[in-house]
Amino acid sequence: MEDISDRVKELLDSQLKEWNLASVNYRLLANVRTREIDFNDFRLLVQFNPERIRSSAAKVDSKSIEERPCFLCEKNRPPEQTGVDFSDEMVILVNPFPIFSKHLTIPSEEHILQRIKNNFGKMLDLAKALPDFVIFYNGPECGASAPDHLHFQAGNRGFLSVEKDFEDKRLLTKVKSANHFEMWQWKHYLRGIISLRGSNVELLMKSFNDIYEGLSEIQQGKPEPMLNILAYFTDENWIVHIIPRKLHRPSQYFAEKEKKILLSPASVDLGGVLIVPREEDFEKITAEDIGDIFGQVCLDDSEIKKLTSYV
Ligand SMILES: [Zn+2]
Repeated sequence: MEDISDRVKELLDSQLKEWNLASVNYRLLANVRTREIDFNDFRLLVQFNPERIRSSAAKVDSKSIEERPCFLCEKNRPPEQTGVDFSDEMVILVNPFPIFSKHLTIPSEEHILQRIKNNFGKMLDLAKALPDFVIFYNGPECGASAPDHLHFQAGNRGFLSVEKDFEDKRLLTKVKSANHFEMWQWKHYLRGIISLRGSNVELLMKSFNDIYEGLSEIQQGKPEPMLNILAYFTDENWIVHIIPRKLHRPSQYFAEKEKKILLSPASVDLGGVLIVPREEDFEKITAEDIGDIFGQVCLDDSEIKKLTSYV
């Protein structure tokens, strides 16, 4: 598996040379405007990225999904898009509409539903095989634009502020520690997150399942409990940020005129880089708007605390 990282580097190089859509969009990304928003204890970045309108405004209701050809199935992919196989089940592709300077989409070979329950182990495998990347998962009702086809995404490490904020631990409390495994809870971070760190795969998997089951009890009648997940591998440990959700899109998304902010939060936004495809939103969005939006879509600190008691 050690050559996967090198093969992905080569894939990015060759796709950016040979695939016009990717080459144009990565060049445009180098010039996108960003704004930093300061929240005393941490900062967030806002990225004005018009190409992401496809994802932010994606219609993910079952009728729209059934009527479109699935863009993650091999038969519908552009002929220029090539990939690197991962463990016979997944294929690593270059995302042609990037947020990160290195942005991958990693669909399953088969057209199967976007579900994390039996695929969390694959996410850990990917994180270990691609240590230069953060692997992320958007649930079927939490930002995935293909809720009918299992996929992860990956972006280069060092871009999302959650990585640095986790390292400096100012907003974190350790709630569990055992056998090469730790569980942390965030405070005053606007969005409730449970973070796992460790080299003990069994405990990582078990804790994830406990949180998943706990969230399932709170949210019944959903295809799966709503969540976003970020995972990466560093210093022989996995770090996993689990972000439970209670709403897909905030009220601002559906508002009209000057009240509208077209922001559909998913892993990247909650990891610290908010993607807005409209220039007016980029210019007007405030710290207060962001606090309000995160508050609507995420769990608060006391709800997170309850969830950690399931582990
Ligand atoms: Zn598909």
